[in-house]
Formats: sequence, structure tokens, C-alpha cells
Amino acid sequence: MHIQTKLIQGGISEDPTTGAVSVPIYQTSTYRQNAVGQPKEYEYSRSGNPTRFALEELIADLEGGVRGFAFAFASGLAGIHAVFSLFQSGDHILLGDDVYGGTFRLFDNVLTKNGLEYTIVDTSNLAQIEEAIQDNTKALYLETPSNPLLKITDLKAGAAIAKNHDLLTIVDNTFATPYFQKPLELGADIVLHSGTKYLGGHSDVVAGLVTTNNQELAEQIGYYQNAIGSVLGPQDSWLMQRGIKTLSVRMEEHQKNAYAVAELLANHPEVEAVYYPGLTTHNNHEIAKQQMSGYSGMVSFTLKNDADAIPFVEALQLFILAESLGGVESLVEIPSVMTHASVPKEKREKAGIKDGLIRLSVGIEYAQDLLDDLNQAFTQLKNH
Ligand code: PLP
Repeated sequence: MHIQTKLIQGGISEDPTTGAVSVPIYQTSTYRQNAVGQPKEYEYSRSGNPTRFALEELIADLEGGVRGFAFAFASGLAGIHAVFSLFQSGDHILLGDDVYGGTFRLFDNVLTKNGLEYTIVDTSNLAQIEEAIQDNTKALYLETPSNPLLKITDLKAGAAIAKNHDLLTIVDNTFATPYFQKPLELGADIVLHSGTKYLGGHSDVVAGLVTTNNQELAEQIGYYQNAIGSVLGPQDSWLMQRGIKTLSVRMEEHQKNAYAVAELLANHPEVEAVYYPGLTTHNNHEIAKQQMSGYSGMVSFTLKNDADAIPFVEALQLFILAESLGGVESLVEIPSVMTHASVPKEKREKAGIKDGLIRLSVGIEYAQDLLDDLNQAFTQLKNH
């Protein structure tokens, strides 16, 4: 079945009891049991809830995971935390150098307290992955495209190196979504998402999703989901499903507008560099073309003069100055002081995240309105 159909009819797309075509919101914490020790299908909503389960089945379907092997969490970070509960004190992880700031903070300030070790690696450079592997390395964790520099890692080759050394490959697929990229099919073991972004798609819900095609991993992640308890509630599970139904049409529009924005920026004299994997000038455009069916809607760039970054974003009117991404509306932010402020300056700069880097989440408004907004902000800069 094509993903465009799966988005709408995949997972559990209707209520088996009543035939309701929208899965009901099962707003219940517990379930009547038939007799002592004889629960029905569900016992308690931390361990399982039908609305959440419908969403979990849907994401498993979309990522090419296995039914029953997907899990929904209260946020993307809650999902990442549950995944890293798989590891033990003394285990070592290779962490992409350009990941969401909150993911870095989780490693640096929380997981290390539990004894996990990590090395930061530019995963778009396969030799660096190979070189950083130690005897106690257990996993390769990366984003592709990455946040905020839109770096592309060759997933097939990266996962093959990991497999050779008995490491798990864990991919944050938030930026691409399963509509444009399926990491499990390219060799990843676990795929996760901040569902808050494109999957939800309307900037109205915070959620995390994790899926795998490996039974042992699924059992363990399911165990930690229940044991830690950071589950997604039924209302938010329903909102996620509603958002996902329109993912294909939204992603096509995001991509179309992002292309137009990236081209405008690439041709503007005030712009120093543009990062968008869809541009043929992107370092790893050819790999992106092979492993993705589209390039999504995130564009980052720097101006020739770093000090112009703040006045520029403040001059924008349609692009809303806000954290997060992936909603229907266009957003703008400066990673160094917003989404990636928790990454120390020297680590940010080593990864190439300059203080003046600007990140756009290009929405699905009328493209020319977005281009006009950028142009008027450039004009205001000139008149300063
Ligand atoms: N992964 C990526 C790529 C993100 O951009 C974010 C948040 O911005 C997260 C994970 C964390 O997700 P959440 O904010 O839903 O906890």
C-alpha cells in the first residue's frame, strides 16, 4: 500500500466496536476486569490505551516497523529517554554533533549521571564514526537531516558500520518524517520522532514516537515505556492521528515552499551560506537524493554579517519568531540563543553552528507571501 493511503487507512483507522471512522478518545485510566487475574484487553492506561494503541500501530505501519513494535510518549525527549534506558552504566554512545539541543542536554546532564558515556561525532563523515568506536560502544545515535544544519548522514553505510561493530543504529527521523525517509528500511534498528513537529503538524500537541523492527528491542522499549510511565494521553494521541492523516499533502507543500525560500536565499547578496539538502550545492545532496524521496521544509542560513541575524528575524512578519518546527505556519529562530542554547558555545561552533545561524521552518502558506516577507526584512536591514 502506498504511504499516502497508509497515512489515512493504516494502523487502526476506525473503531471496531461502533464503526466510527475516527478512532474514539478512550478517556479512561482503568478497565473493568472479568474476574480476579482476568483483565480484558486493557488493564490500566499507562500500560495500554486503545486511542494510544491506534496511534502506535499507525507509526509502526508508516515506518515499516512491525505492528505492536511502536510506542507513543509524552514528548520526543521522553521517547529518547526511554530508548536510552536500554543501556547500562559504562556503555558508550556515538552522538551526532548536530542534534537538537535538548537531546544533547539529556546526554550531557542526565544520562551521564547514570554512567552512560558519549563521544560527539560528525556522522555525515563515515570515517569519524569508524574512528570513534570503542570496546564499550553500544549505539550510534543521529539525526538526518540534522537540527539545525541539515547535515545528511548516509544511513545505509552508517548503519552497516554500526552493525559490523554490534552497535544499534538509532535515528531521529523528525525532520524527514516517514513520508520522505524510512530509516528502518536502510538498516536502522530504532527510529524515533518528536511527534510535536511534522507528524502532529499543527503546533498544538507535544508527543514522541518510537518504533523498531526487532522483537527484543520492542519488548524492552515497551517495558520501559510502562516502567518509566511517560506515556502520551488519549486526547493527544487522537490529535496526533488527525494530524498524520494529512502528512502527505502538508509535506509536499512544505517542500515546495522550502525550495522557493532556499533558492531566494541562495541568490541573495546578503546571504553567506544556505543549508537545504534539496539544493544541488548542499554537501551531501546526492546521498539525500538516494535515501530520501523529498527534502522536507527546514532551511537554515547565515548572513554575511552575523550581527544582522537578530534584526533580520525581528523584521520578519509572517515567519513567527518561535521555537519548534513542522507546523503549518512558518517559524523562524536563532538556534544559538533558542533551541540550541543548552549546547556550550565551543561545542556548537565545533559543529558549525554559528551564533548568527538562522533556522526557518517553512510553512504551507502561499509561497510568494513568504518570499515577500523575507525580501521586506532584507530591505529593512539595508535601511538600518
Ligand atoms: N528531535 C528533534 C529533531 C527535535 O527538533 C526535537 C525538539 O525540538 C526533539 C527531538 C525533542 O522533541 P520534544 O520537544 O517533542 O520533546
